[in-house]
Amino acid sequence: MPEGALFYATTKRRVNVTFDPDLRALTEATAVELAAVLSSGITPPPTPHRSRCRACSLIELCRPDSMARAVRAWRRRQVEAATAEEGP
Ligand code: SF4
Repeated sequence: MPEGALFYATTKRRVNVTFDPDLRALTEATAVELAAVLSSGITPPPTPHRSRCRACSLIELCRPDSMARAVRAWRRRQVEAATAEEGP
């Protein structure tokens, strides 16, 4: 099979994709990484590339901005606690 297609439901656009050797290798490597993520049982963090989230169907479940705020707040509390323990 030399090519496939991606269909974007929101924009109703279809993009043809040629299955060249590089894409096949990337797909195989991605499948191996995905299997490792699934078997680890650990959800990976949200992507730091927020532009990818705009059209993501999982955004209401993932809520990447609230996760980022929570991590920043946790980091700030950890730094404050560590510096308070050291004292003058
Ligand atoms: S909203 Fe979608 S693209 Fe953004 S971090 Fe979550 S899963 Fe990834």
